[in-house]
Amino acid sequence: MHDSLAKATRPDDAVLVNGRSYAWPTRPAVVICFDGCDPAYIAAAKAKGCIPTIERMMSQGFFTEALSAMPSFTNPNNVSIVCGAPPAVHGVSGNFYLDRQTGETVMMTDAEPMRAGTIFAGFSQAGANVIAITAKDKLRKALASGMTGIAFSAEKADVCTQEEHGIDKVTELVGRPAPHSYSADLSLFVLDAGIKLLETRKPDILYLSLSDYVQHKHAPDAPDALDFMAEVDRRVERLLHLGAVVGIVADHGMNDMSRADGSPNVLYLGDWLDQAFGAGATRVICPITDPFVRHHGALGGFVRVHILDDGIDHAKLLAAIRALPEVEIALPRAEACARFELPEDREGDIAVIAHKGVALGARAADHDLKQLAGERLRSHGGLAEQKVPFLISHALNEDYARGANEMQLRNFDIFDFVLNGLRT
Ligand code: ZN
Ligand code: ZN
Repeated sequence: MHDSLAKATRPDDAVLVNGRSYAWPTRPAVVICFDGCDPAYIAAAKAKGCIPTIERMMSQGFFTEALSAMPSFTNPNNVSIVCGAPPAVHGVSGNFYLDRQTGETVMMTDAEPMRAGTIFAGFSQAGANVIAITAKDKLRKALASGMTGIAFSAEKADVCTQEEHGIDKVTELVGRPAPHSYSADLSLFVLDAGIKLLETRKPDILYLSLSDYVQHKHAPDAPDALDFMAEVDRRVERLLHLGAVVGIVADHGMNDMSRADGSPNVLYLGDWLDQAFGAGATRVICPITDPFVRHHGALGGFVRVHILDDGIDHAKLLAAIRALPEVEIALPRAEACARFELPEDREGDIAVIAHKGVALGARAADHDLKQLAGERLRSHGGLAEQKVPFLISHALNEDYARGANEMQLRNFDIFDFVLNGLRT
């Protein structure tokens, strides 16, 4: 599984992971995956003066907008960031997929479906002190795959053991109980734990992956969102004060997907296909579906259509989906995989992406809108949520500054830039 990892024998060697070479950090390298931080959250908080540290990073370090991996969901992007590679390489293209051979759905949220080694595994096997902290525990299991060192989640901070997580008594270290899974503190706890461990354990690489709970609930200019941005900013200031290089990217953006009256703006593609092509002739998979997350009703901007009835004319079905006003793009498998760097064996027959502001669902009966608790649906998954901030506390060297100008950066370039791209 980790064949691609070349072991460095001395700390001054570079570490090779998935064909990319990473220089050994000369000072702690902290990468924050700011979950759901659409560039609009940075812009709104900047306009209100809530994020002085991030503003300073923008002016004195490096800032641009990058593109996330597709679909613009949490798991594929966190895994892309820690592998430095797109889903075609590591295999994780959603929370679950339909196995076309067996007809069974298979979860992709833990380490088992990953086909590539991580930067953490590479560095920790080469002797570096690597620490990974996530908001959700499921993600921790995937990201910690193959690495040695400390890896835990805020969600399960109260049950960490030396044996499994490389650390115990995390709640004592942070000075408060494990946060509720549906709270802004889930993210702030990740950052506070990171600060404490940067102070006490001197990691070479520290990865802090937050939760998008706040962004699903609040628009960028809402007071709760601005407060959250200010709280995050204060903690970034602390990380910098401790001498770290800090890189910040998001896994995806976030958009309002509601109608003017506040109801979710959803196309239930499964219901529509049942009507147009016969019940059960197709199956719609919503890869955002997550039994551990409840704030989006399993609705996002990207779904996969599987054609189960052999008698259906694929071209006709594709044309019919493309003609729907809610649909921005519908691509047959091979084209979707080529364009979005996706693994073919986990893709449906047709990948469907909604226009900005529209969510795609399977059948209405499959989605529990009570999860939204009457709030506007805000979600992600499509091309409209692919733009993410790409921010580094320190200035780039000439090579990387030129590269950043000439090519479209991806969020999974962040470790390359933080480890290889800075002025010495
Ligand atoms: Zn996310
Ligand atoms: Zn989300």
